[in-house]
Amino acid sequence: MYVLARVLRFHILRLGVEVLTMLAVMAGARAFAQQEIVLTNVTVIDGTGSPAHRDRTVAIQGDRILAIGGGHQRAPASAKVIDLHGQTIMPLIINAHGHLGLTKGTTQSAANQTEENFRHQLLRYEEYGVGAVLSMGTDGKRFAEIREESRSGALPGADVYTAGMGIGAKNGVPPVGMGFTEVLRPETAAEARSAVAQQAAQKPDFIKIWVDDFWGQYPKMPPEIYGAIIDEAHKHGLRVAAHVYHLEDARLLVADGVDVLAHSVRDGDVDDALIAEMKKRHVAYIPTLSLDDFAFAYAGSPNWVGDPFFVAALDPGVLEMITSAEYKAKVQANKVTAQEQAALPQAMHNLKKIYDAGILVALGTDSGATPIRTQGFAEHMELTLMVQAGLTPLQAISVATSNAAALLHIADQCGTIAAGKKANFIVLEKDPSQDIHNTQSIRAVWKDGKKVSDGPLPAIIH
Ligand SMILES: [Zn+2]
Repeated sequence: MYVLARVLRFHILRLGVEVLTMLAVMAGARAFAQQEIVLTNVTVIDGTGSPAHRDRTVAIQGDRILAIGGGHQRAPASAKVIDLHGQTIMPLIINAHGHLGLTKGTTQSAANQTEENFRHQLLRYEEYGVGAVLSMGTDGKRFAEIREESRSGALPGADVYTAGMGIGAKNGVPPVGMGFTEVLRPETAAEARSAVAQQAAQKPDFIKIWVDDFWGQYPKMPPEIYGAIIDEAHKHGLRVAAHVYHLEDARLLVADGVDVLAHSVRDGDVDDALIAEMKKRHVAYIPTLSLDDFAFAYAGSPNWVGDPFFVAALDPGVLEMITSAEYKAKVQANKVTAQEQAALPQAMHNLKKIYDAGILVALGTDSGATPIRTQGFAEHMELTLMVQAGLTPLQAISVATSNAAALLHIADQCGTIAAGKKANFIVLEKDPSQDIHNTQSIRAVWKDGKKVSDGPLPAIIH
């Protein structure tokens, strides 16, 4: 007993010295490196869904928010004070369903996934106030490397999360002809399990599957394949996100244990039984309303096509393509355009019902899957569409921020503006809780405690 007590006391003493040393080092480092920044007179939308807080003072140190207080707090003499009178901050948007590097100009191909193109797209997301993107299963064999380059800062811009290589149907969705050449396509349950196991060692953030036939145009992944994928993923501690369209597929996927429905159900009303099952199993929902709007919008002339906020997000050639008579004629002649047009109101109806039921809904857009789904702009369009679906602006913002952070298991770091969280926020000219379009009035983007962009239109706004 005596010996044990002596050993313990020795360890406690040693630990005490180590802690003191560590604190001294931290204090020294802070004094040298990290000047406090204080934002004053700013309206704060914190991302939790609670009302805008007016006339706040926000102190930032290093990459973190140090404290948030009422107006007229005295800042330390050494602090850099920035008066944001009349302006609003909200957390950076998190896009829980995007694609990276696939599109370039008017083309889409895995061959576009160069370092330069990743960089270009991640910086574009960032200048539109998107701080993180979950790339949904199109990153190929290099997925872990791309994520690591993002973490280390070698790839700047929005933070990369990845659903790895993605698992689709043999000769099916996502179609090889649309550039999805790097997706795994198992034909048996055993191959399906090995498609999961081969990625598991590199810990993708999700396993992505596609369960769709594009209105009967392709074979659909059979239930025995996705059943095996979901089971194997769960054995490895991985969650599964499914591309889905049809109500019956959603029902089967939820019964089989899928973790995320990564698109809206668009061929019928979600019913109370499915909602109850989703709640019981904690299935999350990513509506991707903008995908459905983009599918037919350019057949007409939507008012946003001429908006500099949209145009600034486009790669060369895309504006010319989508405004050309041939392109409009092609969309109008497409035999599935009528279904696409019906899909959007159906998706909106289901979103409202699912949201009101208390299911975790996270923002996703599918931007970057094709050149017409415009990265950066799409995320703001998604916010306006969610409000059209019946969410309040503050609810839509929380779907885009704290909810998406919860889905990615990063809510302890970001998704809200609060003491101790990353100083990741958009500075807006106008308050989006009054009108959701005001998320587009970007004056600055801050990430990890630093201003990283003046937004996509600095010359126009300033
Ligand atoms: Zn997608």
